[in-house]
Amino acid sequence: MENEALTEEMAKNIIESCIDCGECIEACYIAKVTDNKYTPKSKIMLLQKLLEGHELEQEEIDNIYLSTGCGACEAVCPADISITDVIKIERAILAQQGKEPAWITQVCTNTMKLGNLGGEDSSNKNSWVTDELELSDNSDVAYMAGCWISVAKHDIARSTIKILNKGGIVPRLIPKEKCCGHMLIANGHIQETKQYVKDYVEYIESLGIKKLVVSCPGCYSHFMKEYPELFRKPDFEVEFSVSLFSQLIEEGKLSPKKMNKTVSVKDACVIMQKSDIPRKVLSSMGIEVKELTDRNIFCCGGPEVKPAFPEISSKVAMFTIDNFKETPDGVVSYCPFCYVHLEDVCKEKDKEMAMQDISNLLLESLS
Ligand code: SF4
Ligand code: SF4
Repeated sequence: MENEALTEEMAKNIIESCIDCGECIEACYIAKVTDNKYTPKSKIMLLQKLLEGHELEQEEIDNIYLSTGCGACEAVCPADISITDVIKIERAILAQQGKEPAWITQVCTNTMKLGNLGGEDSSNKNSWVTDELELSDNSDVAYMAGCWISVAKHDIARSTIKILNKGGIVPRLIPKEKCCGHMLIANGHIQETKQYVKDYVEYIESLGIKKLVVSCPGCYSHFMKEYPELFRKPDFEVEFSVSLFSQLIEEGKLSPKKMNKTVSVKDACVIMQKSDIPRKVLSSMGIEVKELTDRNIFCCGGPEVKPAFPEISSKVAMFTIDNFKETPDGVVSYCPFCYVHLEDVCKEKDKEMAMQDISNLLLESLS
């Protein structure tokens, strides 16, 4: 949904289609940890005010930025209101009014100029590569680690490549790998993002890549959902690394050894539709999964909330930590941000929770 096409009439229709059932409020962890001060429903109601040209109070602006984009609200909305799209539109209007938080503007500028969130030199993006990894210069299968892994979780990228190598795949890297554009997309920078996505897709296509393997659920979701809307469907297939692991196991190309463990799984909000796949991979390792949350969306606290609202973000993370920490052999994650954020919050709050990424665990069972 693009904000320039949105009229007051359409905003009115969105607001009027809300039947005030409160389901979104129940589902939202930001609402829960703020005693319903910042709810999805109240975020929707701000749309009309913005479109009518009213100035928002600081607390109302905070409300619009207090969303992790987890999608738990819209997953339960009986009126099918795309609440995350409404939030993007509101953020786009705020950006046009010069009310976007400065840190978001900076991160979006870094993404546009340098292809990464932190403004680092992007030539370091593949600094996680070590000599033991088999990589090709010209394979038509490429691997994209994504920002979080490139910066903070090199082990996930290395384990992924080692697993692919064991399964007979020698991928190449993308020499000029860029951020998938997450913060641009989440903050409604539509026009800039269109060009950014076009340039990136065309660049990957120009390398002759037929399949792009990604380890980050956020990258996967943007390539699959937003890229076709912002530009077009890429000419290459995009595959989530854990799906490829599962396929290689099914084809008998990988044979994990059985591990006698019981774990719980921290699912990734943006690819809940794939939540059976990590469980299949764990089952092939003889690992039992203790289900703790009815497999509903259970947000970790989110990259968009942490920088400006660290306490609220940590409180959301504590739901996971308190619910999952007693699982006998810890928590398995398949999202690098969940992993980094939950680990950080455990340190901050002096809590212990054994956590492991699924790629590291699978590699262990293949060794
Ligand atoms: S996307 Fe998640 S955090 Fe944002 S309003 Fe919806 S449920 Fe709350
Ligand atoms: S779940 Fe949908 S219909 Fe119900 S209150 Fe929230 S936005 Fe309105």
